[in-house]
Amino acid sequence: MREPRWLSRFGNATRQAETYRRGRVLLAGDAAHMHFPAGGPGLNVGVQDATNLGWKLAAVLRGTATDGLLDSYHGERHPVGAELLLNTRAQTALMTTYAPEGQALRGLLGEFIATVPDFSQALAERMSGLSVVHPPAESASARPLTGRRAPDLRFADGRRLFELLRGGGRVLLDLTGGAAAGLPGRTPDTVVHTAPLAPHGRDAWRRVTAALIRTDGHVAWAAEETDPETLTRSRDAHPVHVRGSRRDGGSGGGRCAVTRGRDVG
Ligand SMILES: Cc1cc2nc3c(=O)[nH]c(=O)nc-3n(C[C@H](O)[C@H](O)[C@H](O)COP(=O)(O)OP(=O)(O)OC[C@H]3O[C@@H](n4cnc5c(N)ncnc54)[C@H](O)[C@@H]3O)c2cc1C
Repeated sequence: MREPRWLSRFGNATRQAETYRRGRVLLAGDAAHMHFPAGGPGLNVGVQDATNLGWKLAAVLRGTATDGLLDSYHGERHPVGAELLLNTRAQTALMTTYAPEGQALRGLLGEFIATVPDFSQALAERMSGLSVVHPPAESASARPLTGRRAPDLRFADGRRLFELLRGGGRVLLDLTGGAAAGLPGRTPDTVVHTAPLAPHGRDAWRRVTAALIRTDGHVAWAAEETDPETLTRSRDAHPVHVRGSRRDGGSGGGRCAVTRGRDVG
């Protein structure tokens, strides 16, 4: 073989760094987690690491968040890396077992994938990284949407959420068409969008009146109230780990899975 265009070496070692942050050293992607390239989730998780870290670094460098926000990078992404390793180990076991018992297990799972939509949907969401919740819902009071990745919502004015996120800022949605207009929490990089959802939108979003979407597309908070006071209380139930006053709701929209506290710097 001469002049190969691509050489790659890989094995089935499975390891994860104990910590993704030590001071000014931050690990992301394969530097933080390595595994057999089964099923192809590795790159997705690495890109999500980088996205999670990117907006936090930018906020700290701009002075709109305290250094503590960077600790939430480990808090949010380490569990995702651990699940990635679990997932690829399970797939490796399924791929490499040729005993009759292993073949029976593969057959059974294959049947579930083909016939149980919820099962295949759950697997697809894990593989794509869309099931990730930042931070994981810890309390019964947390609204089901909080922490989840927002879908590409379509609004009555023809605009779409992913289009609004493109600039790299966070997006404050007023889905009542004005009732939540007095909602605090705006910063220069916040895109405020006031328009109801387009008809036939997503069921989980039908009752939502206002929401703050982080720059990485995760829901910082979502409310179902229309009264501005109740709305603000609902938002404040979800601590924000950024520099900012208690009244303005901070500026980075990054909730911290580790400290669960408001860091007003
Ligand atoms: C065969 C195979 C198939 C795969 N298939 C998929 C797939 O289908 N889907 C998927 O999501 N993932 C897949 N993956 C995993 C995916 O390729 C990795 O998760 C991803 O490339 C990791 O990106 P990274 O930037 O973290 O690291 P890398 O892609 O490894 O990038 C690190 C870079 O740093 C450079 N570097 C290293 N040391 C130094 C140094 N000292 N100074 C300067 N530069 C340095 C390296 O040369 C490299 O370019 C596959 C992996 C393999 C091996």
